[in-house]
Amino acid sequence: MAGTGVFAEIFHEEVYKYYADGEWRKSTSGKSVSIINPTTRKVQFKVQACTQEEVNKVMEAAKVAQKAWARTPLWKRAELLHKAAAILKEHKAPIAECLVKEIAKPAKDAVTEVVRSGDLVSYTAEEGVRILGEGKLLVSDSFPGNERNKYCLSSKVPLGVVLAIPPFNYPVNLAVSKIAPALIAGNALVLKPPTQGAVAALHMMHCFHLAGFPKGLISCITGKGSEIGDFLTMHPGVNCISFTGGDTGIAISKKAGMIPLQMELGGKDACIVLEDADLDLVAANIVKGGFSYSGQRCTAVKVVLIMDSVADEVVEKVKSKVAKLTVGPPEDDCDITPVVTESSANFIEGLVMDAKEKGATFCQEYRREGNLIWPLLLDHVRPDMRIAWEEPFGPVLPVIRILSVEEGIHHCNASNFGLQGCVFTRDINKAIMISDAMESGTIQINSAPARGPDHFPFQGLKDSGIGSQGITNSINMMVKVKSIVINLPAPSYSMG
Ligand code: NAP
Repeated sequence: MAGTGVFAEIFHEEVYKYYADGEWRKSTSGKSVSIINPTTRKVQFKVQACTQEEVNKVMEAAKVAQKAWARTPLWKRAELLHKAAAILKEHKAPIAECLVKEIAKPAKDAVTEVVRSGDLVSYTAEEGVRILGEGKLLVSDSFPGNERNKYCLSSKVPLGVVLAIPPFNYPVNLAVSKIAPALIAGNALVLKPPTQGAVAALHMMHCFHLAGFPKGLISCITGKGSEIGDFLTMHPGVNCISFTGGDTGIAISKKAGMIPLQMELGGKDACIVLEDADLDLVAANIVKGGFSYSGQRCTAVKVVLIMDSVADEVVEKVKSKVAKLTVGPPEDDCDITPVVTESSANFIEGLVMDAKEKGATFCQEYRREGNLIWPLLLDHVRPDMRIAWEEPFGPVLPVIRILSVEEGIHHCNASNFGLQGCVFTRDINKAIMISDAMESGTIQINSAPARGPDHFPFQGLKDSGIGSQGITNSINMMVKVKSIVINLPAPSYSMG
């Protein structure tokens, strides 16, 4: 159970502790932040509201620990990560329990998130050993006017302290996708978990503690992003920020110093359906892509753009599948569970009501109880409706009927987002040409958008982000290239 057994030391007098300098601590603020269970809407957990002074201390400790960590052999760093991955998987049950209670993640998906996270940590350790174990040798005589008297040795060196800020929807997976590359590359890591999901993240952090990472190298500061966020992101001790979330990331990008930024932000993933598509496959992917975890996924299908001639048939197929989705508490492993907060539910409802007023067709009756919103497909959505453009992050999905492929591409590209997209057709030539035309970081052909497998490159264009993730890209983003040039007294040619 959460907060018991090996996790007992992270919990004291009703409040979870924060992690600093290799220890679990209570904040001197004496204040806590409540985490509301989305299902019961009652306080489920409390975490420390850390102070600015505590952030300063964590940053100082991280700086010192990082210097020693950078001198720790790569294979030893990998060994510790493999150990943490095994401990994480061993304790999947209590961590998954937190995900169920904090973010209403369906029970089975919660376990999957923890197991996938362990796999991600192991894969990152292996990948790091390979790519960080290699550098480059350049010779000078390839550039005009030079003899071969200079040898340039370039290798990858750590950045220093990486600040990781994940969102609520994958608080464990999107934390380790930042922690593991940072650590294998020789960096220290400070985690600021999302408030909803903080307790799952603290349990995950304890698995790294149990693996035996050096004191101060990793730490976890809890508190509301709105209160402690600016202080963290603008802290002079931070050498890199890896952030996943919504528009907050745009604000952070404007305020952060001259440091590398990795931003994975929102999306409005378009699904373009052509007349020749396999319509059963389309319907299955619209339901999976649009409604898994109640639509609270960055890569959820967020707008369906469908050729008018096949729209009726697809809408009917989707309707019959939506009718089979189970709706209820995450403990029962229902398909549709309460959305994360009441304000999220209110926002989703606002988009639905706007579409209603403007004449969208409701394929199901709109129903809400507390944070629980029943799945809803909105047909005949038009571009003047907010839901055509905004990210609901809930189980409501707009369908826009189109008369040409160009119309679909135009709608996709007119969005300020560009995370992923998908196209359904049996014609591979058309699929490639449409994928090329869509201004999104990744296009899936004949499948719903997806972030994984976790070693694939993952990136957003426009307001959807900066840089690229995926295990290899994240490791490369958290290092800097350093060169050493050997200057010979005279040109020297191999075998020459
Ligand atoms: P969010 O509100 O932007 O919060 C993300 C993180 O930022 C949380 O840890 C939050 O902490 C923290 N935060 C809030 N204010 C901050 C500040 N001023 N400075 C620093 N950190 C601050 O996003 P969310 O609601 O958790 O997640 C949903 C959004 O994430 C959606 O837009 C979704 O599309 C996006 N997302 C994108 C990806 C991707 O890979 N592109 C993946 C998943 C989700 P608190 O919780 O304490 O406020």
